[in-house]
Amino acid sequence: MNNFSGIYFHIPFCPKKCLYCDFFSVTGCPRDTLKRYGKSLFDEAERRLGELSETKIVSLYFGGGSPTSMDEDFFRNFAVFAEKSGINLEDCEVTVEVNPADRGENWIKNLKNCGINRVSIGIQAFDDKVLSEMGRRTTVADMEKNIPLFAKYFDNVSCDIIYGLGKNREINQELNKIFELAPFKHVSAYRYARPERENAPQLLDEDETLRQEAEIRDFLQKRGFARYEISNYSLSGFGSRHNMLYWTYSSWLGIGAGAASFIRKTGVSSRYADDIDAFIEGEGLSSVELTLQERLEEFLLMGLRVKIGINLSDFKKLFGKEFFELVSEKVVSDLVSEGLLKFDENRKILKCTEKGSDFLNAILLKLFDAIRC
Ligand code: SF4
Repeated sequence: MNNFSGIYFHIPFCPKKCLYCDFFSVTGCPRDTLKRYGKSLFDEAERRLGELSETKIVSLYFGGGSPTSMDEDFFRNFAVFAEKSGINLEDCEVTVEVNPADRGENWIKNLKNCGINRVSIGIQAFDDKVLSEMGRRTTVADMEKNIPLFAKYFDNVSCDIIYGLGKNREINQELNKIFELAPFKHVSAYRYARPERENAPQLLDEDETLRQEAEIRDFLQKRGFARYEISNYSLSGFGSRHNMLYWTYSSWLGIGAGAASFIRKTGVSSRYADDIDAFIEGEGLSSVELTLQERLEEFLLMGLRVKIGINLSDFKKLFGKEFFELVSEKVVSDLVSEGLLKFDENRKILKCTEKGSDFLNAILLKLFDAIRC
């Protein structure tokens, strides 16, 4: 059982709201608020660091919102926070999500100088018509100019794309052009889930969505990428360490308005309110101790997303009983017989088959029902 952990910093500011987005972020905040928020983030992380005391921090991650909203001083303060807290950034994966439209070379160089060693670029689409349908402020021209700059300073570059929207889209061509700009090591390809908002882009029909997904998978597999999680592909050795913490039921602190944390040892989950002023004032944090049923559901939900599956050897240490004392063996073996799950008894690994990955929600519903607490 690994003892790794990480810290997520939420930056809830965006210059403009994209039409498909459901994350907590606000537009038009004054510069002074961003500064005070930035200071509160590191003060709060320092205050809560003790919750990770029996773990080894292996990842720090700035997500959003748009971390590109923060100025260079913010990242310098981050480097100071890490040093003061005894976190050696060279031993960690340190990721910043970036919007390629927002910043130039000096800002990018500063990131590198502050110990950041991985960037995740929000591309989403490489077609101005689709980008405009999504309400993105980024254009293809912005990306052509700035993505090579990120690649100049960082070896470990990831990008996000969204499929399931944008009619008659030539995703294969988009990917070809994207890969001409940088040697990406990791790609997250998310299926569009339409938020309940009138002006949100329309969903494509299932056939078209599956065609786009297959094009992405084929393109990446031909370039040596492995699909190591339902929505994530990487070259060998470049899987996202941060996301693996979530998928392997490890502990993490999520700091910032709207961010959630989970501490494995205590089973406590906590969350800050979606309220920037409250966060700055040190308010809005609520905590709950998850029930055994909830912890098991989380364990299955996260673990079955990854290709390596769930390792059951340490299950008793985590939950106090053997796996099949808490989950019906019959239901698991039925799912194995249907070709949806694979159980390696010697190595005690339970995972989805290729076919099972396409039916994960249905599998999880059956497994949740099969929990006997
Ligand atoms: S930049 Fe990202 S977080 Fe901000 S509105 Fe767009 S998708 Fe949402």
